[in-house]
Parts: sequence; C-alpha cells; structure tokens
Amino acid sequence: MHYTIAIDGYSACGKSTLARAMANALGYRYIDTGAMYRMVTLHFQRLGVDLADDEAVARALEGIHLDFVPGSNRALLNGEDVEDEIRSMAVSSFVSPVAAVSAVRRSIVPLQQKMGANGAIVMDGRDIGTVVFPGADLKLFVTADLETRTERRLSELLAAGKNPSRAEVAANLLERDHIDSTRADSPLKQAEDAIVLDNSQWSLPDFIAAGMAEVEN
Ligand code: C5P
Repeated sequence: MHYTIAIDGYSACGKSTLARAMANALGYRYIDTGAMYRMVTLHFQRLGVDLADDEAVARALEGIHLDFVPGSNRALLNGEDVEDEIRSMAVSSFVSPVAAVSAVRRSIVPLQQKMGANGAIVMDGRDIGTVVFPGADLKLFVTADLETRTERRLSELLAAGKNPSRAEVAANLLERDHIDSTRADSPLKQAEDAIVLDNSQWSLPDFIAAGMAEVEN
C-alpha cells in the first residue's frame, strides 16, 4: 500500500496534527507544506526581499534549499534547523503574501511533487488535493470554528515560550485564510472529491480515528 493522502484546510484547524498521526500509524512520510512556505518567508525576510521586485524574488528562490530532518521532520533551510523560528508571529504575519507570489508557487509545488512521487505519503497544506496531487488516493478537508482554532494556536505559541494576545492570533488566522482563499494562483479551496472533517467538537483521538476510518474505507 503506497497511498498518497492529501489533507487541506484553513489555518490552525488541526491538519498537521492529523497528518502526522496518520503518517505514523501507516508508516508513511509526512510532509508539512506550510513549513516550506514558512521557510521561504524566513529566507525572504532575512534577505529583505521586496515581493514586488520579480528579479529579487527569482534570485532569492535560486539560493534556497528546503528539506526536513529525517524522523523528527524539523524544517531545514539551507541546512539550518529553523523549525522554531518559522513558527514565530513575524513569519506567520508575512507568509500568506509570500505564498501568493506565483514565482514562489512555481518553485515550491514541483519540489512537493518530487517529495511525494513514490506515494506512501501524507501531505498537508492548502492546495494538495487540488493542485499538488489532484489524483491523490484520499483527500481530506479539515475545518474547525475560529474559536477552537484560535485557542489551539494560542496554546501552541504559549507552550513554545511566545506570548501573543488572543486577538492577535485570531486576526492572523483570519487574515491568512482570506489571503489564501482569494489569491489568484492556487487559492485554498475544497477539492470536489474531498471528505470534510469538522473537528470543532471532537477529542483528538476521535478526530484521528475519523481520518483513519477514511483510509480503511
Ligand atoms: O500550514 P501553515 O499554517 O503552517 O501554512 C502557512 C501558510 O503557508 C498558509 O497560511 C498559506 O499562506 C501557505 N500555504 C500555502 N499552500 C500550502 C501550504 C501553506 O499557500 N500548500
């Protein structure tokens, strides 16, 4: 069994938690495509790239190597472990405008397709079932209400020693969802053949069981 499983949805709805748990249970590789856009964002921020400057964007994309530490899946930007840095509010606030740049998507999507080319993969993001792997064996579209999503993201950030306000976290989620679903290139949307999992009222084990039940079906 070498299935390709695509998990899409809005920001902080539990996609990566589900994807990681399903990959572990199935012995598959997990790819967090959001982390890839976050690494590009950090790289651009460090270089001070102006998103309106096509040449600067192209140059910055040429000098970038994205990978993950095998096993732990920590994000590696040009060999440097940037897992903690890419989760900061500074990166979260800039990632959606970066991910909306067509040249960025043209460079990142083929890399994601290469990473998942042999199947036995769970990939989560915004356009996996629609653009990256439209022929995926299973497509899940995860949702949760804004209050639940804000609460979860806030707890993650507090646990990581960061201290944003609830309002700041909620505003960032809404802003990213808006930019992600209205951008011209590969907007976030539910694939027609995706199964929707709304986990607002579910415990984590029930949510994971619901995802696994779709693999077994
Ligand atoms: O999944 P995460 O919230 O870490 O993703 C960060 C951002 O990366 C999203 O808000 C979106 O702008 C972008 N993204 C994307 N396409 C994907 C995955 C993430 O545009 N497949």
